[in-house]
Amino acid sequence: MTHGEVDYILQLSGFKAGVFPFRYLAIPISYKRMTVGDCTRLVEKVGDRIRGWGAKKLSYAGRLVLIRAVLTQLHSFWTRVFVIPLTVIDRIEGVCRNYLWSGSDQYLKTPAVTWEKICNEKRYGGRDIVNARLWNQAVIGKYTWWLAAKTDHMWIKWVDHVYMKGKSWHEYIPTNNSSWTWHKICQIRDIMKPGYINGKWMDNNGFYSVSSGYQWLYGQQNKVTWCPLILTQMSIPNHSVIGWLVVQERLMTRERLLKFGFTTDGACFFCQSHLETHQHLLYECKFSQICWDLMRGWLKVDFPTPRIIAWCLKWRCKSLMKKQIVFIVIVAAWYHLWHARNVCRLEALLISPSMLLKQVKQDVCRRCKDRVWSLKAHKLPWEPTYD
Ligand SMILES: [Zn+2]
Repeated sequence: MTHGEVDYILQLSGFKAGVFPFRYLAIPISYKRMTVGDCTRLVEKVGDRIRGWGAKKLSYAGRLVLIRAVLTQLHSFWTRVFVIPLTVIDRIEGVCRNYLWSGSDQYLKTPAVTWEKICNEKRYGGRDIVNARLWNQAVIGKYTWWLAAKTDHMWIKWVDHVYMKGKSWHEYIPTNNSSWTWHKICQIRDIMKPGYINGKWMDNNGFYSVSSGYQWLYGQQNKVTWCPLILTQMSIPNHSVIGWLVVQERLMTRERLLKFGFTTDGACFFCQSHLETHQHLLYECKFSQICWDLMRGWLKVDFPTPRIIAWCLKWRCKSLMKKQIVFIVIVAAWYHLWHARNVCRLEALLISPSMLLKQVKQDVCRRCKDRVWSLKAHKLPWEPTYD
């Protein structure tokens, strides 16, 4: 159509000529590939949400919930429409990562665990945050499936007419003058090729779904053994995140800070006479040992320290409830020992072991009430008491 013809149609119809990119439902619409500049608003939006959350006041558990909410919104809206450039995904993940570890969208703290690991499912040792890069690939995988399955779809007919011209999808090679998005779709096709057996998707009864593609892209992983310890029905979210760092030995102890060159003093804050390692801080320090003795006395369960994780995983207990309560007490003890250590570091104040036990009792008993688990109603011979 010539410019003259376009002008004539506009004159007749009364419509005005627009320019690309324009916005529809806040999404920039363009006939060209999405540039990093087009997606700037998306990165800003994620940053705005984070700054608007009263960021620093939230615990790790609260931050994880909010990051999950923002990324879910992103995946259910933007990534379903566009192939997002990797630079943009990196920026969004950077904002979320910084917020998780420091409460700010700026890089202030070294992450204790890699983002890839955090994105994993809980049973594989992660925190169930969707991996934006793989999710975007899985969404694009849907288009490669439509092409592989020759779905009766207007877009497929258009692609066949413009690009493939009747060639086989699996053997088709894009030409140099094909669009960036089309090249990207062909790249994802090559990545996903091993997932097809005789033209059928290897999972989900032969039909591709974004979630099955996402799982497949993540690949085979090993379940972690410690998951039942920190993720029971009774788990206290804030404690669970600290427990998750403890079982992986990822708390930023002074031993680790020394290793990274962030400090020159590695002494334990409680006793000032040993190097602050995970093992020492949580089990071997005199202060920690007294705290554990108090826990054992309260629970009337003789668990060993420092091989407490191995003991928990092997422990045979007839009562599931008792087992879960013992587990949340152990994780609460880790949480409060770490908290006491930070109070000592920031305020030069050492709380007493009996105060630490009181804090653990308060948290655990409140949790039992929150979960409407009346211990007496279950006629347990054993019940922790709070005084
Ligand atoms: Zn010590």
